[in-house]
Amino acid sequence: MLTFENVSQHYGSFRALHGVTLNAKEGELVVLLGANGAGKSTIFLTASGLPKATGGSIRFRNQELVGMKPSQIVQQGIVHCPEGRKLFPQMSVLKNLMLGAYVHRRDRAGNQKMLDEVFKLFPILAERREQAAGSLSGGQQQMVAIGRAMMGRPKALLLDEPSLGLAPLVVKQVFEVIQRINRAGTTVLLAEQNAYAALKIAHRAYVIEGGRIVLEGDPASLMNDQAVRKAYIGA
Ligand code: ATP
Repeated sequence: MLTFENVSQHYGSFRALHGVTLNAKEGELVVLLGANGAGKSTIFLTASGLPKATGGSIRFRNQELVGMKPSQIVQQGIVHCPEGRKLFPQMSVLKNLMLGAYVHRRDRAGNQKMLDEVFKLFPILAERREQAAGSLSGGQQQMVAIGRAMMGRPKALLLDEPSLGLAPLVVKQVFEVIQRINRAGTTVLLAEQNAYAALKIAHRAYVIEGGRIVLEGDPASLMNDQAVRKAYIGA
């Protein structure tokens, strides 16, 4: 469904991605594991077209994404939920959510339907819809970020470290919602450092180091892999 083939990315003369090849099939939940600076965010940013890949091909349902404008990529159904949430803290929860619907702004009925779905996923956001997003807890802010991405009507949802800075119980809740979104039919790519929680909900996973895919496998085999345990699980 979403396929990266030999994708490269550079920041000036620094090469951040060295020929990354990976894929997510329709309906899959695929995890990208990697330490800080491994290139996970760069993979997602490159899929979203900002910045454009410096080499290789990214295809979604057989359409080439490299060269498309970021807004066209969102319109295709590739929606990125960035690391660090990137909310507008002074704006209300509702306004933040509606920003995610920008590419569908003419379809008011469709957006209302999506908003109802987001409020079903995150009932707390319905209660707090008029509250400034910046006054919510970290976990609630992450829910706004995921809700905003859902308003973009993703076919493939790219989630960048949604567990960052959250307490273990909140991480569990966030991951349960991610699993529900996936089970309802959205393909999910999930970049995480929290390997244990991520592998528990994954269908498949890749390990990224220094801008390269170094390992791919099913969650059980990665969970038992000595190097993965040592680097990401700490056991
Ligand atoms: P983290 O979880 O810490 O965000 P990551 O796996 O998402 O890590 P990236 O943010 O993709 O990693 O960074 C990959 C590499 O590219 C790092 O070496 C980083 O310093 C570099 N990099 C990222 N963005 C830029 C930029 N805008 N300009 C220059 N170098 C960058």
